[in-house]
Amino acid sequence: KKIILSGIKPSGALTLGSYIGAIKNWVELSETYDCYYMMADLHAVTVRQEPAALRRRTLEQIAQYIACGLDPEKNVIFIQSQVPAHAELAWVLNCYTMFGELSRMTQFKDKSAKNADNINAGLFTYPVLMAADILVYQADLVPVGEDQKQHVELTRDIAGRFNGIYGDVFKLPEPFIPKVGARIMSLQEPANKMSKSETDNGGCICLLDKPEDVMRAFKRAVTDSETEIRYDVKAKPGVSNLLQIYAVATGKTIPDAEAEFSGKGYGVFKQAVGEAVVELLRPVREEAEHLLADKAYLEKVYTEGAEKAARTASKTLRKVYKKVGFVQKS
Ligand code: ATP
Ligand code: MG
Repeated sequence: KKIILSGIKPSGALTLGSYIGAIKNWVELSETYDCYYMMADLHAVTVRQEPAALRRRTLEQIAQYIACGLDPEKNVIFIQSQVPAHAELAWVLNCYTMFGELSRMTQFKDKSAKNADNINAGLFTYPVLMAADILVYQADLVPVGEDQKQHVELTRDIAGRFNGIYGDVFKLPEPFIPKVGARIMSLQEPANKMSKSETDNGGCICLLDKPEDVMRAFKRAVTDSETEIRYDVKAKPGVSNLLQIYAVATGKTIPDAEAEFSGKGYGVFKQAVGEAVVELLRPVREEAEHLLADKAYLEKVYTEGAEKAARTASKTLRKVYKKVGFVQKS
């Protein structure tokens, strides 16, 4: 079976973008592949986090993964910081990654512009830790959004370089980018993606939001000064984003959605999109709340997950340590 690795930073509450762009696809992939899905808390601390909030969001994130349909019996669900091999391999890979390569990462440029007062080394070497996350499991496929594609390409370059020196140690992973719903945009600034670290401007829908909050956000969603409900990302980014969300939430195609709302006003349209999303999220929120009340169960999931993940990861790490010349532990 092919291996899949993916994860989300618990840097904010999971959003509709996290669900449509990532978790929804993970659920489908878990039918066919051996999947490792993590709470990427090591990555989260590249931006300053409030400790209690980080801890709470990490647990909430596990509950939401499961509530979205990821079965902990069929998937390895774990917390990144509980599997030391990620950080250990990242150190070694740091020494096989060039300063110039990291300087070219567009996400580093974006994030350092947004966090000008905390451009730390971790933010810079983030893609190396991501390479370690992927390579330590010998993953074949990495489901990511468009924004992470460059990092998967860098991972291939690092792995290729390492293999070129030491022989075949790492499998070269492929990015797996879903066609539909690849990028959900902010409801307030449809030129920017919906992002869980920017949830306080009304542009974001969180998976645990109450129905009335979801409806309010959709009613306020930015559209344009025309009246036509038509998919055209360039000319009509707000309306196109809403059509995209509606299509995913209802399982309809975008042309069907356009036809359904032809001749109708934006008010009716936004109401319908809001209702579709409320129905999409209702079971997720209810199940997540139920799981969060059962701390012992969650603890069992992440403890067993970390054990399974560590078993796979330690094999790769041992091989790498041997190749580079470290003395094997007796
Ligand atoms: P942050 O603002 O902290 O970077 P984020 O919302 O961008 O948070 P990530 O943890 O960076 O979330 O991304 C997790 C996964 O979800 C990635 O595979 C990413 O591509 C995907 N993803 C995040 N936001 C969206 C979105 N708006 N639309 C589609 N996919 C998304
Ligand atoms: Mg991001």
